[in-house]
Amino acid sequence: MTSERDAPALLLDKVVKTYGSIRAVDGVSFSAAPGEFIALLGPNGAGKTTLFQLLAGLFVPDSGRIEIMGQDMRRNPVPALAKLGIVFQQPTLDLELTVTGNLLFHAGLHGIPRSVAINRIEAELARLGLSGRAHDKAAKLSGGNRRRVELARALLHEPRVLLMDEATVGLDPASRGDLLKLLFSMRRERAVAVLWATHLCDEVSGADRVIVLHHGKVLADKTPAGLVADAGAHTIEEAFLMMTGPQ
Ligand code: ATP
Repeated sequence: MTSERDAPALLLDKVVKTYGSIRAVDGVSFSAAPGEFIALLGPNGAGKTTLFQLLAGLFVPDSGRIEIMGQDMRRNPVPALAKLGIVFQQPTLDLELTVTGNLLFHAGLHGIPRSVAINRIEAELARLGLSGRAHDKAAKLSGGNRRRVELARALLHEPRVLLMDEATVGLDPASRGDLLKLLFSMRRERAVAVLWATHLCDEVSGADRVIVLHHGKVLADKTPAGLVADAGAHTIEEAFLMMTGPQ
């Protein structure tokens, strides 16, 4: 185990997960520094969701090692998971609860004292431009604002790694752009590493690095510009298609 001070925010070392004969995650290794924004780009079936399930501790890898802030997921899952925030692909707010009710529920699960939680909720909602919606039922919010609340919830316990699993699914282009902008501006300020899974090439151009995942393997781990240049392509989409073939 690396000490937390020197550790990458996230480390994967030769991680493998199989379903019968399918190698959904096939020897994946990479690391993310605090504040780094990494886009995990892969076509349907590439293994993104399986990888996120392993990172979230829902499954244990067949082999390989995952560390979050130097904490080994297998040996020390509680401190490792305490440093992790997740926004799932499927919406997960309780629509009958208010915005604050949803956030307080999550704070309770993380053992955050109510007085601390109230202060953090106010601060997060202000940062996300949702102060005026604190007492609205989640059902009354637009899709974009629900996603913002899910982001506030994922940040409430002050994680150092944020997993965003196809977080823009169902959002209109303006809301998609807003969500990305928010993440780009907050990640360094909060020293949170962001792992942004997507199959949309236009969402990765502002990332620090792009990891291309295909059939469970890392095909490339480069800057967006490096990805395009090394493939001899003109755009990320062209480079991506050259690597992964027609879908
Ligand atoms: P998508 O964008 O379509 O969600 P993905 O990149 O998230 O795709 P995964 O859902 O992780 O990919 O799937 C990777 C591979 O593992 C696929 O071949 C899929 O069919 C297979 N797979 C995923 N979950 C299971 C499961 N529970 N049982 C059997 N095979 C599975």
